[in-house]
Amino acid sequence: MPISRSHHRPFRSLHRLTAMMTIGIPCAAFAQSGDFAACMQKLQPQATRAGISAQSFARFTQGVSPDMSILEKLDYQPEFRQPIWDYMAGLVDEQRISEGRSNLSRYGNILQRVSAQYGVDPATVVAVWGVESNYGQTQGKYPLVQALGTLSCYGRRQAYFQKEFFATLRILQSGDIQPQRLVGSWAGAFGHTQFMPSTFERLAVDFDGDGRRDLMDNATDALASTANFLAKGGWQTGQPWGFEVRLPAGMSTAGEGRRNKKSVSSWTAKGVVTVDGQPLDSRVSPSQKAGLLTPAGATGPAFLVFRNFDVIYGYNAAESYALAIAHLSDRLRGGGAFATPWPTDDPGLSRAERMTLQKALLARGYDIGEPDGLIGSKTRDAIKTEQSKLGLTPDGRAGQKILRALQ
Ligand code: CA
Repeated sequence: MPISRSHHRPFRSLHRLTAMMTIGIPCAAFAQSGDFAACMQKLQPQATRAGISAQSFARFTQGVSPDMSILEKLDYQPEFRQPIWDYMAGLVDEQRISEGRSNLSRYGNILQRVSAQYGVDPATVVAVWGVESNYGQTQGKYPLVQALGTLSCYGRRQAYFQKEFFATLRILQSGDIQPQRLVGSWAGAFGHTQFMPSTFERLAVDFDGDGRRDLMDNATDALASTANFLAKGGWQTGQPWGFEVRLPAGMSTAGEGRRNKKSVSSWTAKGVVTVDGQPLDSRVSPSQKAGLLTPAGATGPAFLVFRNFDVIYGYNAAESYALAIAHLSDRLRGGGAFATPWPTDDPGLSRAERMTLQKALLARGYDIGEPDGLIGSKTRDAIKTEQSKLGLTPDGRAGQKILRALQ
C-alpha cells in the first residue's frame, strides 16, 4: 500500500522510534497490562471531555490489552523501495480494472445518485474504492480500540492517536458500527474507504438512509462517503484529473511538479502536446492551470495534472498513490495504458504475476509461505538466490525478467 503521510492517514512513512521501543525486553516490560490499565485510567477524564460517557468508556475499553507488535509497525522502515512501475503494476492491474468495471455496473444506480448529489463521477469514486480497500476486500484486521488504544499509550505521536482513539469510542457510542466489526489497519484506517476515525466523523454519510453510517459493511454508504470526501476537498465537477502528455525533446523538467502550476497555454508555448500529438487545448481550456508530473524522470511518462489531482492527493498525500487512482479511473472509463513506457527493461508485475512467481519459487523448494501476491522479505531473499544462479543482478526485485526465467 501507499507510502506517505497526511492528516488523513499520517503513518505511511515513518521515522524511527526511540531505541527503547525497538528493543525487545524493555518493550515487553513497557507492555505490562498494569501500565496499560493505568494509561486508560488516565485517559478516561479526557475521554469524558471528548464526549464519551463513563459508561461507554468502560464498556468499550473493558478487557482490552495492548498489542505491542503495532509499535514495530510504527517503526518499520521499508528496506526495499519499490520503483514507481512496480507500484503501478500492482495497483492498476487487469484484475483491479475488471473488478472495477463490474462494480461500476453493479452499483450503477447508486453511483448515478452519488454523482448527482456530490458532483464526483462514478469512475473516480470506484477507483478510490479499488485502490483503498480492493473494493472492500482488504479492510485490515486490527481491532481499532486495541490498536489506537496501544498507540495512545506507547510510542510516538500519542496525542494524535488519542484524538483518533476518542473518535473511535464516539463512533461506537453513536452505534454507527458494532464494536466487534470495527477493525482496520494497525494505524486506525478502516472500512471500504479506509477513513481514520476522525475523518469518518467529519465525512462519512448515511446514504442508504438506514440511520447508520456504516463504512464496514455497506458499500452504498462507502461510495457516497468517498464522494463526499472528494467534494469537500474541492472536487471540480466535470474536470479531468489530468492526462498524459508528450514533451518536446530536450525540455527541462527541473523544478516542475504538481504544485508548480502554469496555464495550459504556457505549456503549449513550451511545445507540450497530447500523446496523440494534438494541441493541449483540444482537451482542456488554455486558461486552466496544470502542473507537470514526471514520476520516473523526463524519459518516462509525463502528465499535466489539474486541481482534481490535488483533491485525489488529499486522500493519502502521495503522488504515486494519486496517480494510481487517477489512472485506474481512466482505465475504468475505457482508457488504455500509458502511451510512454516506464524507463526500464524489466517492467513490474501484476498481483496475478506475483502469485505465479511465488508459486514458481515454492516449486523450487523455497519456504516463502502461502503465495499471496505480496512480495515480502522471504520472497525477495528467494528471488535474490535465483537471480544469482541466473547471472542477474541479485536485487530481490520481483519483475518480468525473473518471472520469465522461472516460468
Ligand atoms: Ca447507512
